[in-house]
Amino acid sequence: MVATQSRSVAIVGSGPGGMYVAQALVERAPGSRIDIIDRLPTPFGLIRGGVAPDHQHTKRVDKKYSKTISLNERVRFIGNISLDRDVSIGELTGIYDAVVLAYGAPYDKTLGIKGEGKKNVFGSNAFVGWYNCHPDFINLNPNLEINSAVVIGIGNVAVDVARVLSRTTTEMARTDIADYAMKTIEVSSLKEVYMFGRRGPIEAAFTNTELKELGAMEAATTTVEMAQLPNQVPNNLDDKEKKVKGRILETLKELTKAKLERKRRTIQIQFLASPVEVLGNNQVEGIRMERTEVKDGRCIGTGKTFDVPCQMLITCIGSRAEPIKGVPFDQKAGIVTHRDGRIAPGIYAAGWVKRGAVGTIGTNRLDSYGVADLIVSDFKGKAKPGPDNFDSLIGSRKLRQVSFDDWLAIKQSEEETATEPAPRQKLNTVEQMIEILNKKN
Ligand SMILES: Cc1cc2nc3c(=O)[nH]c(=O)nc-3n(C[C@H](O)[C@H](O)[C@H](O)COP(=O)(O)OP(=O)(O)OC[C@H]3O[C@@H](n4cnc5c(N)ncnc54)[C@H](O)[C@@H]3O)c2cc1C
Repeated sequence: MVATQSRSVAIVGSGPGGMYVAQALVERAPGSRIDIIDRLPTPFGLIRGGVAPDHQHTKRVDKKYSKTISLNERVRFIGNISLDRDVSIGELTGIYDAVVLAYGAPYDKTLGIKGEGKKNVFGSNAFVGWYNCHPDFINLNPNLEINSAVVIGIGNVAVDVARVLSRTTTEMARTDIADYAMKTIEVSSLKEVYMFGRRGPIEAAFTNTELKELGAMEAATTTVEMAQLPNQVPNNLDDKEKKVKGRILETLKELTKAKLERKRRTIQIQFLASPVEVLGNNQVEGIRMERTEVKDGRCIGTGKTFDVPCQMLITCIGSRAEPIKGVPFDQKAGIVTHRDGRIAPGIYAAGWVKRGAVGTIGTNRLDSYGVADLIVSDFKGKAKPGPDNFDSLIGSRKLRQVSFDDWLAIKQSEEETATEPAPRQKLNTVEQMIEILNKKN
């Protein structure tokens, strides 16, 4: 067997999927060189650009990821370099013994209904990216001079969106929400936020912890109609599920008692309704919903419709990846084509581009560890030239790569410009980040 010392791995994407592969390789292939390439100058994917700004405790996982890079001199972060735009898959496979695609699944799925293209209709990736200061979405400009908004979906992302839309500046003081987003939300005339789920309370994907937060907000009341809730969880669930769903049902029952008076905004959770048409002219003016029922685990329409006036619509119905030139792709599933993580000799998949956009940050850990094991077991033959050749390639194209030290300088600048007690004030654009670095050098 060839010693792992001479091996090199490129990981494309520095989100949890990619970072856990790096973490495992440090232990399982000591001496190998690992380059983590990301299209943004900022590392860690959705930890920065997806996880809700008022969930700073969740974002803290970035400290562990940082250590994987800063404590291992053979691991590098190479930001601001995009696979496809700046380098091709063929170039990477010519340079590295293994290439791991962990570039996420950030494209919003669509409802596929009439009227979806109207103004003020957004997918959750775009909307969450907007309030999280993701450079792709800072110019989204949602119009919040509105009375009501509809959020489609009853998973944790939908809960995040409904909650952030209803938070006050005081509640968000300790967060890193984009300034422009907080100002827009604070002065908004928004009164009603409806959250619609196709299925019932037992099938809902939100967790009890997230749901409970909706019941404890400074200036918003969350309501659910008792008539939509079953008396108890069904008997056909296993004991663990019964416990989990039982807690959710208890929280929902608590929410039915909410008093509506005096609070600025109301979040109404409604189950068993599916969107059939977005109403309005150029701008969304409402949504037509169809009542559904769950029979033998299947959700079916009843044919009974009702209209809900709304001037903004946010769909939280999942997302998909897009193909990279030269990499097989499963259009239906919206992920790369792979067999247990192997795409082709020397090319692997990890994270959401491998499994689809489901699961938590932690779900990526074991899965990515498995991918690292595959990589190590596949190392054979003559080692490829490795990172020095990558540097020559990037140098010859005069691309502005962002190192981990550069990222630390960006991070420091964001922390220094924050107003207490906010942890950081995020820079809005890649250009602003590069300007900070140019000034420093
Ligand atoms: C809105 C939202 C909130 C969430 N909140 C939570 C939460 O609170 N708790 C929890 O446990 N889980 C949460 N999750 C789930 C969690 O974020 C995911 O499990 C995880 O981020 C998936 O990791 P990933 O590495 O596959 O993708 P990502 O985190 O998306 O990382 C992909 C990386 O690839 C980079 N990239 C993309 N294209 C290219 C390219 N062409 N070249 C180079 N780099 C590229 C991106 O810039 C990004 O850094 C949330 C998800 C979403 C969408």
